[in-house]
Amino acid sequence: MIRESALKKLTILAESAKYDASCASSGSNRAHSAGVGTTQSSGICHSWAADGRCISLLKILMTNVCIYNCTYCINRANNDVPRAAFTPEEICELTMNFYTKNYIEGLFLSSGVIQSPDHTMELLIKTVRRLREIHRFNGYIHLKLIPGANLDLVHTACRYADRVSINIELPSRESLAMLAPQKKVESILLPMHSVGETLQHNQEVKKKKNKPKTMPAYTPAGQSTQLIIGATPETDLQIMRLSSWLYEKMTLKRVYYSAYIPVNNDSRLPVLHTPPLLREHRLYQADWLLRFYGFSAEELLDEAHPRFDVELDPKICWALRNPGRFPVELNIADYEVLLRVPGIGVRSAKKIIALRKVQRIQYNDLRKLHIVLKRAQYFFTVNGKYYGDTPLDPAAIRNRLTIPYPGRVSSQLDLFDINRDTSDLTSAISGEI
Ligand code: SF4
Repeated sequence: MIRESALKKLTILAESAKYDASCASSGSNRAHSAGVGTTQSSGICHSWAADGRCISLLKILMTNVCIYNCTYCINRANNDVPRAAFTPEEICELTMNFYTKNYIEGLFLSSGVIQSPDHTMELLIKTVRRLREIHRFNGYIHLKLIPGANLDLVHTACRYADRVSINIELPSRESLAMLAPQKKVESILLPMHSVGETLQHNQEVKKKKNKPKTMPAYTPAGQSTQLIIGATPETDLQIMRLSSWLYEKMTLKRVYYSAYIPVNNDSRLPVLHTPPLLREHRLYQADWLLRFYGFSAEELLDEAHPRFDVELDPKICWALRNPGRFPVELNIADYEVLLRVPGIGVRSAKKIIALRKVQRIQYNDLRKLHIVLKRAQYFFTVNGKYYGDTPLDPAAIRNRLTIPYPGRVSSQLDLFDINRDTSDLTSAISGEI
């Protein structure tokens, strides 16, 4: 039974946490123990809200009291909003209660900064330690690291959480100084770097022949971060370069992009009528291309074209700028080459390679290989035959792919029109582009 006072706090602190997008609960493989809960696939699944955000975790702030004044944040010190704070035990009780009733698969815990970064981090650690050691909770925990907290505390937090994240929020030092002047780039990147180094070190130890039989748990699902999109003037190219650098140098598992939602009046903030959701979507598509398709930021954008096309996805745009690389013959192309074909995703490319081991591919095989022919038709041949409904001419293909259909209001809206082409939507969610 949850106490009424805790429920009141929950209303405030769940509402306050909703602007953090970095809550996907995948990738953890916590060893099974005698405790309660599991991160294994039987217990964990993803749910997505209409705006694309993950909703399978109890996602709360420990408190929305904050000594900082980040301009874009509803919880900033200057705002007159209802405030609340959970005790560590209240969070444990809520988590266990919801978990045992199957409402949630885990906990996403963040907090405003109270007193100091160290004090806040200590309270967060106290909560997750209690959850693991006293309540024997073995489910998924995503814990926010507090910028500026002592590195020892950061590493302690990593022992209890499946995933940790420290939000960069703004994609450049100048923007951070303008909109979140109390946060320093170093206070975000140093802990991120230190966690990344430890994760890498652990990986190397695990590969050694004389590796220890057991290793202490250390954030098995890695670390992530979030960038706010559209609150500051950085281009998509700058954002993609930053993401590339974070994946490479900080060994981040995920960078999340969160379209800026205006919640405060402040002359330093842009006036937006709607959050830039299409831009957020393009960045996610491009992020997928960086992580799984072998693209670099510079291939997708350049100084002359620093922003993604609103009408076409980044992979098609790249293909249209590089017509000399197409058409690709599906019966002989390497896996890496297949991945570059619009409409062929990781799953399709693997299926093509597997099928080629037993037979030559025929055109009739393509649908069962989950190739999205609407996009792919212009970029391949099968047994030497081209199947596009227009010649391989970038302007003509662009025209075909952006042509209005009856009832369409704007070319941007079709991205979210689930009824028109569900294969597009499922491929966008699964990252098959
Ligand atoms: S640190 Fe900044 S972003 Fe975080 S809760 Fe406080 S004001 Fe909001």
